[in-house]
Amino acid sequence: MAEYQCPHCGMVISDEDALLCHFCGESLQRAGKGFLGRVKYSSSKVVWFFVIFAVIFSFILLTIF
Ligand SMILES: [Zn+2]
Repeated sequence: MAEYQCPHCGMVISDEDALLCHFCGESLQRAGKGFLGRVKYSSSKVVWFFVIFAVIFSFILLTIF
């Protein structure tokens, strides 16, 4: 059973398909927020991966040449 917490009033909504908060009536913006959160999280991981990779790669290049 999926529960979702309203970002406006903090109440837990047990209705999985609810688009509006039952308590304060604000839009939950669930799909967009969840999607953006996931993209932001994964992209930050990718950015860190490339930063570490670039550091290691430049270190290897410096040691070779
Ligand atoms: Zn609410």
